[in-house]
Amino acid sequence: MENNHNIQYLSTLLHAEAHLGESSSIIDNLVIDSRSVIDPECTLFFAIVAQRDGHEFIPDAYKRGVRNFVISNRYYLAQYEGANFLVVNDVLQALQQLARDNRESYTLPVIAITGSNGKTIVKEWLYQLLAPDYNVVRSPRSFNSQIGVPLSLWQISEEHTLGIFEAGVSKNEEMQVLADIIQPTIGILTNIGEAHAEGFSSRKEKLLEKLKLFQQVETFIYSPEHTPELREKELPGQVKFSWSMKQEADLRVLFVEPIDNRSYIRALYQGKEIQCLIPFTDKASVENGIICWATLLVLGYSAEEADLRLEKLNRISMRLELKNGINHCSVIDDSYSADISSLAIALDFLNSQNQHARKTVILSDFYETGKNDLALYEEIASLLRQKQVNKLIGIGPHITEFASSFDMETDFYDHTQAFIDDFPAQHFNNETILVKGARRFEFERISKLLTQKIHDTVMEINLNALLSNLRFYKSKLKPGVKVMAMVKAFSYGSGSFEIANVLQYHKVDYLTVAYADEGIALRKAGITLPIMVMSPEPSAFDAIMKYKLEPELYNLDILKGFLNFLPDGERSYPVHLKIDTGMHRLGFDETEIDELLTYITDDTKVKVMSVFSHLVASDDPEQDEYSQYQLSRYLAIVDKFTAALDYPFIRHIANTAAVTRFPEAQLDMVRIGIGLYGFDAALKNNRGLHTVTTLKTTITQIKQVKSTETIGYGRRGSLPEGGTIATVKIGYADGYRRDFGHGVGKMLIHGELVPTVGSICMDMCMLDVTGLNVSVGDEVIVFNEQLTIAELAKQIKTIPYEILTNISQRVKRIYYYE
Ligand SMILES: *Cc1c(COP(=O)(O)O)cnc(C)c1O
Repeated sequence: MENNHNIQYLSTLLHAEAHLGESSSIIDNLVIDSRSVIDPECTLFFAIVAQRDGHEFIPDAYKRGVRNFVISNRYYLAQYEGANFLVVNDVLQALQQLARDNRESYTLPVIAITGSNGKTIVKEWLYQLLAPDYNVVRSPRSFNSQIGVPLSLWQISEEHTLGIFEAGVSKNEEMQVLADIIQPTIGILTNIGEAHAEGFSSRKEKLLEKLKLFQQVETFIYSPEHTPELREKELPGQVKFSWSMKQEADLRVLFVEPIDNRSYIRALYQGKEIQCLIPFTDKASVENGIICWATLLVLGYSAEEADLRLEKLNRISMRLELKNGINHCSVIDDSYSADISSLAIALDFLNSQNQHARKTVILSDFYETGKNDLALYEEIASLLRQKQVNKLIGIGPHITEFASSFDMETDFYDHTQAFIDDFPAQHFNNETILVKGARRFEFERISKLLTQKIHDTVMEINLNALLSNLRFYKSKLKPGVKVMAMVKAFSYGSGSFEIANVLQYHKVDYLTVAYADEGIALRKAGITLPIMVMSPEPSAFDAIMKYKLEPELYNLDILKGFLNFLPDGERSYPVHLKIDTGMHRLGFDETEIDELLTYITDDTKVKVMSVFSHLVASDDPEQDEYSQYQLSRYLAIVDKFTAALDYPFIRHIANTAAVTRFPEAQLDMVRIGIGLYGFDAALKNNRGLHTVTTLKTTITQIKQVKSTETIGYGRRGSLPEGGTIATVKIGYADGYRRDFGHGVGKMLIHGELVPTVGSICMDMCMLDVTGLNVSVGDEVIVFNEQLTIAELAKQIKTIPYEILTNISQRVKRIYYYE
């Protein structure tokens, strides 16, 4: 995975204006985030200007030893001893150009994958299937963006004989750039989902955009079921290879039959019936399996060989999961892969979690092509050192052999069982533990020991989706507008420090909680961002000061109370002033402003960080006039503050829906709540946002009931025709309200919607599963991206906010990155 280029060559390639200090630098690694620098001397840092200006991180990167920079803002030149600067017009384009140049240096075959779902699974499965015959280079995890693709392609080097890369686009006009970088020889379209979910206005528009990736491919693998809008000759590829379960195709699937957790698939191919066995039964895995099958056939594997390989596919969990562990530990579970690039990502996640001072990493032997063991383990050691890992537990003969490379606290075991036998002696306590190992080490056994038993109802929080929503809003902001993330009420039910850590790591400017307790919990978990407290009770003033929380002061009483409370010597304690412009909840009235101003201009104990107000109906077009009225009233009041205070303060009034509906209300900062969690009444179908939370439970028991029998409390439920009911482990104490009873609420089992029967009980409820093939232990979805919170809200005539925040704290949360 090494890629040596000297800086002068790169400079010429980029037509950059070069300012070279140590012109001999050899570049191995491209980095866009100063925190992910591994090997600083050989790193080239790209100061990409996106929602945040990458130039701001040059000092940090320099401090970490980086000496090579691609920049577009010349202000940063000159200030750094011995550094090389390449000045270009567009830094992202420069990154893409380097990747493209690297791609063009090699003639290896390259498979490119795009589609709405399944890209990463298909990529990883093809890797499993083809690794015996090829030296494969592939995208790390789901690196498929405008930045992820160039970083992936930069990895190609001499020893590789096949590339497998995924590409994703979220809007029009993005794919051409990726196509130019990847230059695929084989193209795979996995599928096409609903257009709005990815920011396109129609399915056809989305399809055409995705197909741009394949303009030059020799072979295009697809299913006509996904491309009904196009005629065959409009499809790309000199050769087209189709598969289908429904219509004529090169690989015509005749049937799929589940046998003992596996799927037996028969198909017609080149006039013959062929078959394979895939060790999965869910619909998505079967489709992904068929796509891999088609690819093996395209690559010339015999039907028999393809079958042998497919049968051994492993389930892929690309997820990096954060769970509560035993003895107050947090556990990051990444027991699937062991390679350097995914280790760097996992360590970044570990580093973003501040709740425990101590960080432990459990690693297995690593397998990395093209690197000798000594170099490999030294690189791992250097990575662990940089990420300030306190302790390494190495498992496996190879990592043990290189024990002396690691200079932190260490323990080594020859194999997983030896560690498990010694587990009690490890005394894990109050630390964050990353568990990461190659599949054959079965580290899932270790994560099981480390994590608390998870009650069968869990809420899963997709951190990629959360960040993608954050990026969405940042992209809608005018330059310089700050973001206050609303994390009140456990981040709308999604979590406390787990969410705040991620938001802090990704640089929001402010956090806001409802009560001091919530803020204290965040501080105790290592959150250092400024935190505003919306309801600062006088009894909590002490704690507010102790934990450096910033109170919202909303009337003269609380203002005077806080001023009196502050000790005489206190200077410039940060506070926020809330103005009532029409909500009539909390806030100073217009008539109180003059008096308020006399207090805060006379008293230097406090400093006004911000003056803000709240729109009452920013999502409702019928109330636009009122929203405008609130804004102008607010601005008139703010003028008085500007005149009275001799320092600047932040002005803010916009919540989620106002960001896009009233750009003029963005002012200096916006307060984003529900939008981060995937809902925005201002966006049709939440277009552009991703679903963050999934609530799932399991079937505990299945019963046949007769037409004459009743179901549940009060005998209020029945199935008039008789049938089958499934009892599931969620009830009103979990936040699944009683209003969902009697068929009002529906859940998803194997993709089928099933209604509730009878009343919802405290810890359980019953579903009508008549006619479905279900078993005890099957997964039941209460809400996810398919059955949305908006839909549930409609069923019981409430709003998504209430559905989300109702989910009780006893429901375990699992946070993950994909
Ligand atoms: C909760 C809250 C918000 C966030 O509102 P969303 O509609 O969830 O974005 C903004 N401002 C104040 C004062 C709030 O209480």
